[in-house]
This record gives sequence, C-alpha cells and structure tokens, in this order.
Amino acid sequence: MTSSKIWLSSPHMGGNEQKFIKEAFEANWVAPLGPNVNGLENDLEKYLGSQVSVGALSSGTAAIHLGLILLGVKTGDEVLCQSMTFSASANPILYQGAIPVFIDSEKETWNLCPIALEEAIIDRIAKGKKPKIIIAVHLYGVPYKIDEVRVVADKYNIPILEDSAEALGSSYKGQRCGTFGDIGVLSFNGNKIITTSGGGAIVTKTKSLKDKAVFYATQSRDNAPHYQHSEIGYNYRMSNICAGIGRGQMEVLDDHVGLRRKMHNFYVDLFKTIHGVTVFSVPNNDYFANYWLSAITIDSQLTNGIDREILRLAFENANIETRPLWKPMHLQPVFEKYPYYGNNVAETLFEKGLCLPSGSNLTANERERIAEVVRTIFV
Ligand SMILES: *Cc1c(COP(=O)(O)O)cnc(C)c1O
Repeated sequence: MTSSKIWLSSPHMGGNEQKFIKEAFEANWVAPLGPNVNGLENDLEKYLGSQVSVGALSSGTAAIHLGLILLGVKTGDEVLCQSMTFSASANPILYQGAIPVFIDSEKETWNLCPIALEEAIIDRIAKGKKPKIIIAVHLYGVPYKIDEVRVVADKYNIPILEDSAEALGSSYKGQRCGTFGDIGVLSFNGNKIITTSGGGAIVTKTKSLKDKAVFYATQSRDNAPHYQHSEIGYNYRMSNICAGIGRGQMEVLDDHVGLRRKMHNFYVDLFKTIHGVTVFSVPNNDYFANYWLSAITIDSQLTNGIDREILRLAFENANIETRPLWKPMHLQPVFEKYPYYGNNVAETLFEKGLCLPSGSNLTANERERIAEVVRTIFV
C-alpha cells in the first residue's frame, strides 16, 4: 500500500499543550493535582456556562461510574440506558452491581427514544421496581431529544446522567451539552474532539457535589492527619500533566468543532447526488452538533445493492479507516440477558450505518482520496 493511512479520528494538537506540560515539570507538579487541573476545570466551567462545576478525572468511564455513585445507584437497582452507545456508557452500571435496562433509539437523533423510555418506566414499575436513573447519550455529537426526555424523567422523578463524552462543543437551544443532565460526563480520550491523551470530567450543578466526586476520586480520605476512610474510594483523578494537554486543547476546541463541521459539510456535498445514502444530520436548528464523527446510512435497495460492508471494504482497500455504528448493547454477548424496550431502530441503524473519517486534521488531499473511493463505488 503506497498511501498513508487515513484515520477515523486522530489526536490534533494545537501547539500550547507542551507549554503547560513544561510549566508542570518546572514546578515539579507531576502529580494528580496542581495548577493545570484547576486551570482545566476553570476553562471547562467557563466554556460550558450554566454555572456548573467541573471535576477533572482519569477517564469518561470514571466520570460515569462516579455519576452513578453520586446519584445513589446501588446493588440491585435498575438503570435505564440508551442501547445504541459505546459500552463505556453501560459498564459502570455493572461495576455498581446494578441492572441495566436498555432502551431503543428514535430515528431523528439516533438517541434515547422518549416513547420507549416511558414504556420501560411504566413496565418496570408494574414489575415492582422503579428505575433509579436514566443514562442518555449524545451520539456522534448530535444532542438527544433534550426536552422530550426531560419531560419523561420529571414525570416519574428519575434523574438523568448525561453522557456527553462525544458532544463537547455541541448545544441545544443555545445551551451547551454536558449541562442538561442532573450530572454530566465528558471524555478526553485520544479519539475525542479534544484529548488529554486519556481523561474525562464530571459536570455537576453544585460545587459541593463536585467536591464529593473529587473526594471519591482521590480514595475517599477523611479529614485527618493519618489516612482515615469511612467510605470506599477510587483512584480516578486526572494528573496535572494530562490536564496541561487539556488546557492547550481548550484553546483550539472551537476550531476543532468548526473543522469537524466542515468535514460533515464535505460529506453532505459528496453524497448529495447519491440516491440511498443519507448523511446523519441534526433534525432542526434547535440542535447544534460538533459532528465529532460524520456518519451515513446506506439503503442498499436504493443503491443497486451497494451496502455498508461493500463501502467499508472499499475504504479499507484504500487504507482509509471507517467503522460501523455502535453495536447496540442489547445485542452484545455480555449484555444480551438484560431487559430491552423498543423496536429495531438501533438494530437497523447498526446494519446500515458507517462512520467516516472525521478528524479536524484531515487534509484536502486526504479528502480527495475519500471522495475518489465514493466515486468509484457509486458510479
Ligand atoms: C468515549 C466514550 C465514553 C468513555 O470515555 P473514556 O474517556 O474513553 O473512558 C463514554 N461514553 C461514550 C458515548 C463515549 O463515546
């Protein structure tokens, strides 16, 4: 293979990351606390608005786990979770010994279906147990149906854990994603819109809840000169080095959002004359997506039999990475024994959908290589 690999989504440094890391080394703040951690938390609080508090953690998964703990999820509790998502949305339910109840997506945002959600709540209550919380996800940076899901949650008085791991920079009616849930979650993994090489954050409505999250994240140390513990703790805090990368990345976050949205527009343009291929886009102007990943669905009955797999393999032969959409959790071997509510929306999306290279650092030449594959397949 002669041409270099085009990745789905790769890290994209802005330039000032090393400055913050250098400062940390010079001050010997090579530890899981320090000025970069506070600095990143302040940057995120300012960016998100809505007077939230932010705690920087070692991963988005850690943030989901602590979110469940802060919302009181315990052994045997039931947690309603969007089925179509990355497994990290659901794994912490099992860490807590709780029971996931998976919910289908709706077709417009590919996220939590408010109708299936309410059906599930009614049925779980009838079966004897009211669900403890709802985990809702903004897949690929497209906000879920914020208002509709909130109405259902409030009607039954069930808090929402908002998995905004893919949606930093997205918003709904002008309010930033990450601030809609009773608790919000961000991720700075290597493939996300900004990265700390690995990291995440928890977003809370009050400073005291953030402090509680940080307490759990630093081994639940009681206030004493010796090591004293009244609660089980975790080692989930972000390091000052990783936070330094994050501060540099915050300076370029809005640029990255703009560039990812440009990639989305590139695909809208590329596929506009190709019958049977739909580029995943927001339903209306209330929604603003960072388009972390651009995704398409292919209806092979309208494309002379060209399906998701044929296109994926054509890209693979050209050394271009693409990936099917998230395989729904209720179809995963590890989760298939748990209850599921809904129809086959998520399942059908999984069969027909493909994520395309979406990085903010893709070049014009790389875009041309992508376009060439599409032109060859859909002659
Ligand atoms: C990336 C991701 C996570 C997990 O974040 P990590 O920082 O990788 O632990 C959780 N949920 C979703 C939807 C994600 O895409």
